Amino acid sequence: MAKVLVFIDNPGASLKKSSLELLTLARSLGESTVALNGELSDGVAATFAEYGVGGILRPSAQDLDDFLVAPKAAYVAAAAETTGAGIVLLDNSPEGKEIAARAGIRLNAGVITDVVAVDPDGTAHKSVLAGSYNTACKASTPVSVVTLKANNVTPEPAAAPTTPGTATVEVPAVAAAARITERQQKVASGRPDLTDARIVVAGGRGMDGDFGPVEELADALGAAVGASRAATDAGWISHDAQVGQTGKTVSPQLYISAGISGAIQQKAGMQTSKVIVAVNKDAESPVFEIADFGIIGDVFDVLPQAAAEIKKR
Ligand code: FAD
Repeated sequence: MAKVLVFIDNPGASLKKSSLELLTLARSLGESTVALNGELSDGVAATFAEYGVGGILRPSAQDLDDFLVAPKAAYVAAAAETTGAGIVLLDNSPEGKEIAARAGIRLNAGVITDVVAVDPDGTAHKSVLAGSYNTACKASTPVSVVTLKANNVTPEPAAAPTTPGTATVEVPAVAAAARITERQQKVASGRPDLTDARIVVAGGRGMDGDFGPVEELADALGAAVGASRAATDAGWISHDAQVGQTGKTVSPQLYISAGISGAIQQKAGMQTSKVIVAVNKDAESPVFEIADFGIIGDVFDVLPQAAAEIKKR
């Protein structure tokens, strides 16, 4: 049976959906161990057991977050060596991919990113060219490091829970010069995480520099805020909000697209949403080809009206 290592970074009080997807995939591939960075809360420990995790590793050093990704990569590689893992799974975030690449070098392993599924024999399936094609590839090295795109595996607890033991992994020291001296504080928005959200309200170039109506509607619905690349590149909203080929993949119950034309690279990140509502003033906009409901109108009229109506309820 293959040995699979899953890296989970700072889960806090509960695991994100993308972490549950990693655990579900790991279990389908073999015997899974988690390399955890950060606190192990009671809730997270219970979820590991529920998802059939065989063991939980913790790093010897407690200051991994005081550095850029180097010590996390060293920890993942050391944990993979300790467990004899043949497959190492991480999330497909920019940091996940960087840790994967660095750990891959340490392990002399093939690295496969943007993966949507992995077969039991280790063949990884990637969605490429904005979701137009699926390709299959397999690392020719004994160990492969794989990053999984969110929203491609249905999280499923194990048939029977496990009682995972914990152990410590020695993290090789990295140069003190790599220590972070200044950290940009993320402002907590109180909104759900974009990749996990059940509802996403996303704005594009049509918002013309003002994301206020998008945020107001998102808050009325308890939704996350997303954006097209045109909007993030213009600096109207953080790059963290970008949905699409080079942004995040979302698959909410409801995706409201406002002032977005629906380019193929945007579709790549949201086309699996259950219901898509598009607001665009151009009736010929390609976004209407993928929308379940279309509103031909000005975002600055439609979004405030929708928010006001929802707030009344
Ligand atoms: P536009 O295409 O300019 O569309 C704006 C829309 O707003 C138009 O349809 C217009 O009719 C409508 N509009 C304007 N004013 C209003 C108004 N007042 N009320 C209602 N509607 C209005 N894009 C992404 O989104 N995500 C990605 O990850 C991504 N990755 C890329 C990767 C590569 C390699 C490349 C080449 C491109 C990528 N892009 C990505 C860019 C993508 O090709 C498009 O350029 C981008 O999605 C366009 O953003 P947009 O729809 O907001 O802007």
